[in-house]
Amino acid sequence: MKTIDIGSLFRNNIKNLKPYTSARDEFKEITGDFIFLDANENPFDTGFNRYPDPQQRKLKKVFSELKRVNEDQILFGNGSDEVLDLIIRAFCEPGIDNVLSISPSYGMYEVLANINNVEYKKSLLNSLDFSLNLNDIFAQINDNTKLVFLCSPNNPTGQILNFDDVKRVVEGFDGIVIIDEAYIDFSTEKSWLKMLSQYNNIIVTQTLSKAFGLAGIRLGIAYASAQIIAGLNKIKPPYNINQLTQEKALSVMIDKSYSKNLNTCNSIEKNLLYKALVKLNFVLKVYPSDSNFILIKVTNANEIYDKILKKGIVVRNRTKDDLCENCLRISIGTPDQNRILIDVLKSISESE
Ligand SMILES: *Cc1c(COP(=O)(O)O)cnc(C)c1O
Repeated sequence: MKTIDIGSLFRNNIKNLKPYTSARDEFKEITGDFIFLDANENPFDTGFNRYPDPQQRKLKKVFSELKRVNEDQILFGNGSDEVLDLIIRAFCEPGIDNVLSISPSYGMYEVLANINNVEYKKSLLNSLDFSLNLNDIFAQINDNTKLVFLCSPNNPTGQILNFDDVKRVVEGFDGIVIIDEAYIDFSTEKSWLKMLSQYNNIIVTQTLSKAFGLAGIRLGIAYASAQIIAGLNKIKPPYNINQLTQEKALSVMIDKSYSKNLNTCNSIEKNLLYKALVKLNFVLKVYPSDSNFILIKVTNANEIYDKILKKGIVVRNRTKDDLCENCLRISIGTPDQNRILIDVLKSISESE
């Protein structure tokens, strides 16, 4: 259990901000027999002539029921990247405050901090098992640290972060911990969502970009205490989730079989790929994965990357990331794509 004074964490200008109110904010009825002449929209029905609901109420109702959180604990963004940017802008005073994340991890945290002129601190994971170095994290946190980003399962390492380790950070840090769960649907471990009722200083982010196969529609989600969500709502662009995205997301979320069908083969294929990878003579290490990709350490990442690319397959070279020297990150493909990949890797292995 932990309750901190969220109100005092917001930047001063955000505390005092009077948000933009759109026509749809001021007149909220969307059903009923009204003639809408309040938003300078084109009156002729194109299917999209009206501005979308700035609060995405239909979508929130569905997510609220599925995830068992209140509607006022949900914020949608144009991908989770927008959500992460809003969080930094809401809490961090440029040039004064700082944020901390783990390394290696998702590159956007650092870019977003840099864009906002917010100092970015990074805490190296333990190199043996990519677990959190709690002593280092707490040593680096200071009075101006507003946010800690923890990605779990982590990208590019692929593993879930130990629950008790994350809990130590959440309980020991008097700021906000963002738990980025972009890959949680691929993990057998539980989401931190269920902890929202116990900690008012966490933000859990998820996305439709991975397990839901909808990277193209750009829908990311933040779940947090109502007070945090209200603050983020004040600064989000009014119409950040367009009509097409809201409609597509709604149809997918009410279809129970949709994401199940997309992900049935992920863990079987991941195991098959894992078994094939450990046999290759240029592969030094295959890291366990709770996600939809596998990180491997090879003899020479640049060389192997090029050889794989020459066969028409694009993987991600992570050799420049901390602790990832000579590492490649490989997404799990369809069964057919994985067969082709394994054949290519075997042929490279035999010619080494
Ligand atoms: C892919 C990914 C995301 C998703 O970002 P979107 O903007 O929602 O597409 C978020 N966090 C991590 C760690 C990711 O790897």
